[in-house]
Amino acid sequence: MKVIILKCLSDNYSYIIYNENTLIAAVIDPSEADPIINEIKKNNLKLNYILNTHHHFDHVGGNSKLKKKYNCKIAGYEKDEYRIPNIDIKLKNNQKWKNELFNCEIMHIPGHTSGHISIYVKEINALFTGDTLFSLGCGRIFEGTYNQMFNSLNKLKKFPRNTKIYCGHEYTKNNSDFCLSIDKKNLKLINKIKKISEKIKNGEPTIPSTLGEELECNIFLRSDNTEIQNQLGINSGDAIETFTKLRELKDNF
Ligand code: ZN
Ligand code: FE
Repeated sequence: MKVIILKCLSDNYSYIIYNENTLIAAVIDPSEADPIINEIKKNNLKLNYILNTHHHFDHVGGNSKLKKKYNCKIAGYEKDEYRIPNIDIKLKNNQKWKNELFNCEIMHIPGHTSGHISIYVKEINALFTGDTLFSLGCGRIFEGTYNQMFNSLNKLKKFPRNTKIYCGHEYTKNNSDFCLSIDKKNLKLINKIKKISEKIKNGEPTIPSTLGEELECNIFLRSDNTEIQNQLGINSGDAIETFTKLRELKDNF
């Protein structure tokens, strides 16, 4: 099974996953239809599914056109059925969903939106995190609370360290600047930034990351770290308070 990373709009990523033998494919978060259609044609694929991590336009923008063209099924979170255009398959929290292409696990991870989900595809050990967990960052809190976002990220932290992280945007450079502004002495972060800069210089995506790297470098997954808490002047040792402070600082970064 393969993953194709597609740049869409200004800084979005859509992902096509497909089976090299059957050529059956699914797309995750098609921001727009045309780049997906080109890639489907180029590789002779058969698009059977669209999966949406959440209802924002830059993640569902291609739904209608793709469904019309390929008659594929659209899957999204059950409680977002009125916000995800043309939904067919209503996914539940903690659902395991098996189809002719893959086995996946759905988790409800509210915070960025109230109906945001993550999609873990077993065959490729890949976690699609939409706008909740970015490489070196996390999503803005639009519909949820800081607590919800904190809990959602904690759920994602429990996957194996070698899990590949595929997120919704190429925000890694800006995120890395923010991490470094606070977590100045983190050598793992400094090393990751070197790798990222190389990729950006070559015009390559910085995605996928791995959960292990994110646990070591992403400041939003490290709000229980005493050094970071000291940097922010937080004496309570409270990870949620630290996370909230970090998210507020990042909103104005
Ligand atoms: Zn979004
Ligand atoms: Fe987005």
